[in-house]
Amino acid sequence: MMGSVPSRAEVTAVPPSVGTPLASETLVIAPPPKRTASPALIAVLIVLAVLLAAAAGVGVWLFLQLNDANDTIDQQQDEIGELNDLIDGKEEFGAAMQGLMDTARTLDGAPLADLVPIDDYTELAHLGWVHRRTPTALAADTARAESYRSDLEQLAGAVQAERDANTTGSYAEGVLDAASGGYASLVFDDASAVCQREALGCVTGDQHRTIHLDAAGFAHPSMDDWGARLVTLHEYAHVLQFSNPDATDAAAGAFGDDWEFMADCYALTEMDSWTLDHRVWESSYAYWDVSYGYGRVCDASQRDVIRTWVAETGFHYHPVSQ
Ligand SMILES: [Zn+2]
Repeated sequence: MMGSVPSRAEVTAVPPSVGTPLASETLVIAPPPKRTASPALIAVLIVLAVLLAAAAGVGVWLFLQLNDANDTIDQQQDEIGELNDLIDGKEEFGAAMQGLMDTARTLDGAPLADLVPIDDYTELAHLGWVHRRTPTALAADTARAESYRSDLEQLAGAVQAERDANTTGSYAEGVLDAASGGYASLVFDDASAVCQREALGCVTGDQHRTIHLDAAGFAHPSMDDWGARLVTLHEYAHVLQFSNPDATDAAAGAFGDDWEFMADCYALTEMDSWTLDHRVWESSYAYWDVSYGYGRVCDASQRDVIRTWVAETGFHYHPVSQ
């Protein structure tokens, strides 16, 4: 009905209009409820922490051990490498020495002992032993052994060529090749100038494998094969004297340490002659009387000394040891 007062019951009954904001709002967040860890959980955590720490410790220890092991392996590999080098070096040295001695053996009986310095080879073998743990020194020893071998091979080649060829086409060279086996050689030149005294031939100490024969003297009509042989053998005796000092020292006493008398005796022994005098007929009515050497003819016992000397001269192969 219109114009009438609403009743109280109606007012209170009116709901707040929709959408009207509240005068104020307060958000209250309540603290979480307090939780208390149980003793069992703490114990478990402690055990876990201890185990974690232990695990970490073991990890570090394993890492250190691994590092040590790697270092040891590296060191051992280095040592193995060095050992391999040493073994290789020893094998190379051994092979070089074997090659040297095999070559030396082919020169067994060479009449000139000094051409094959086997004492040096013995010293080298000893050095190889001393240097067995020093690769660089051992490599130098190996090179030395190879150098010695090369020298011997060159020598053997030269000796063979000398023996096989008579380059001067002379009777004297034939005599020398037969006596020396090619180890000595001869040249025809001005022997007096080389020897600095009047001589039909001579040998100098610094080149004692080469005999100098006087070209003019050997072309003289008084020189025949007998004289050429005697002079050549006398000079070859000097080659042997120079090349075999030890054996020569032992033998020279029988000749009063006179190398010339000894050389004459060698020639006379080889020729089985008991005189140094010789007559050469130039025609049916003209001749030359020649006296060779130094005027003394050695006796039978001195010829025995010469034979012993010749047997003892030269290179006699024997193995070397360290
Ligand atoms: Zn002489």
